[in-house]
Amino acid sequence: MRPHLHASLLLTTSVLAQVPIDPPPDAQVDELVQIVAHLAADEMRGRATGSPEQIAASNFVAQQFATLGLEPIGDAQDGRRTWLQWFPVEQLAVAPQSKFVVDGRPVPNQFVVMTSTELATNISGPMQFCGLGRTTGPNPDVAVGANLTGKIAIAVVPTKGDAAPNLTAEQRFGISFQTYRQLAKVATALREKGAAAVVFVQVRDATGLTDCLSALLPSTQQPRISLPMPSTRERTNSTAGGAPAIVLSLQASKVVLEALHLTEQELGEHLDYGQGVVTARTDVPATLDLEVAVHTDAKACNVVAVLRGNDPKLAHQAVLYTAHVDHIGCRMDSVPYNGANDNASGVAGLIGVARTFAAGPRPRRSIVFLVTAGEELGLWGSRFFVDHPAWPIEDIVANINFEMIGRTGRCTVTEFIATPSYRHPRFSSLGHDAAQIATGQGITLLPGDEHYRQSDHFPFAERGIPALSIGDGNFADYHLVTDDVEAVEWQARAGGDAGGGGTREARGDGRAGAANQAGSGGVVGAHASRPGLLQQVTGMRRRTIRDGGQQVAVNLSLESERRGESFRSPSLPASRRRH
Ligand SMILES: [Zn+2]
Repeated sequence: MRPHLHASLLLTTSVLAQVPIDPPPDAQVDELVQIVAHLAADEMRGRATGSPEQIAASNFVAQQFATLGLEPIGDAQDGRRTWLQWFPVEQLAVAPQSKFVVDGRPVPNQFVVMTSTELATNISGPMQFCGLGRTTGPNPDVAVGANLTGKIAIAVVPTKGDAAPNLTAEQRFGISFQTYRQLAKVATALREKGAAAVVFVQVRDATGLTDCLSALLPSTQQPRISLPMPSTRERTNSTAGGAPAIVLSLQASKVVLEALHLTEQELGEHLDYGQGVVTARTDVPATLDLEVAVHTDAKACNVVAVLRGNDPKLAHQAVLYTAHVDHIGCRMDSVPYNGANDNASGVAGLIGVARTFAAGPRPRRSIVFLVTAGEELGLWGSRFFVDHPAWPIEDIVANINFEMIGRTGRCTVTEFIATPSYRHPRFSSLGHDAAQIATGQGITLLPGDEHYRQSDHFPFAERGIPALSIGDGNFADYHLVTDDVEAVEWQARAGGDAGGGGTREARGDGRAGAANQAGSGGVVGAHASRPGLLQQVTGMRRRTIRDGGQQVAVNLSLESERRGESFRSPSLPASRRRH
């Protein structure tokens, strides 16, 4: 669906289409690929907000800014501005010495704790297998009169064999969240029977319960992060609420099932049909040593930098570019969510924009770059910036946000999703200009208003600042561990590319030509096995992230300066917005 353009505004289209911007030379483009590879490396452990890796990623971005000659406008320290703007977060963390030992053998430290509060406990006792943990109904796993006092109750997570393979991320999360609520009920029922602890084992995971629980609960891999609580009164000790409950990863579950002499096959039948008696050893000793503590002194950081404009009348105004560097950390089984597309690609795009501005003639307005953290948890970094602006908020004339710009799927290679679109009440002249500039570059911006509240432009748009988020929209590996650098669709570039802006056919090398014939228009998917990042990056020497979004973003700012106008939000009367 293309935006409706009004005749009076169409007059400017030919001018917009000619806004000159030189494509960066190949060497620079390759660095953008390296930036994605660096941020999305396993060592970055998914850049969870407030983690050492997120802070390292932010410092890496700051280094890039420093190299480009930008000026830091983060927190002041000893009278000088630093690159980083810190904001407080709170961690609910499983202490590293926490462990579950079965028959003298430590189970791999891969579990989540079903708690929202602190707890400390050390429980020893025999394991009691409780099937699906049903205590009522026609076919209970635990007899009505059973007494689990002193026992560590082991229950299997209910899951049918096959989930529909084409579930969306939201559907997977929805189904898994229902399972999680069911587990909470089972835990309560088993506590009422006297269980000293409840341990859930997983036999299979067809709907992404592992992902869901890793996002919701503190695990042995990472704390649960929240904004600081207003007072300590809200943190009550949950041990009063009863025995602790944990959910083991698939791998950790195997050790427990082995110790109980249970096979996955007999459990699978039990899960599928909910019938039959599954007998397990009853004499296996276990110990659950668990400590979960709140850390109120944790911090996360934004990166903030400026390239000052050269027009004394306009330099106090700023166009603000944003992208989030945080992602969702590690899964409970320690596999990192590398977030190559979400949003290492957006950060690389933002750095690409900074490069372009730093290399070209100084713009008249200042350009502010904000690389946030806490986005995945609720736009914390951008909200914090709006409340504690490192640049006067009334002088921010526009915000352009990058959210996942490295994959196709919902978009083809010549499309991006944009929001607020012409269908949205917050549609501004910024969005209008973007659509026209994009058209001039052979790119179509599709309305993506279902994502309007989902990224860092939102707090700015809600403040009435003309804002626009550019991205891919949903893609197959969204918030999965498969959002990896190999799956980013690198765009081939021919040597000495003189193609100007645009991502159309003219740009391909040999492989892109093949891709063109296959109908994917100049994009080469790099779905290789993982030969090590360095080798990969070298292998991608002639590739870049698809840069149409960056070029639209840069030209947006330049075009408004050329016209000597600012942005208006919303730009069109309501009657003209509804088509
Ligand atoms: Zn994102």
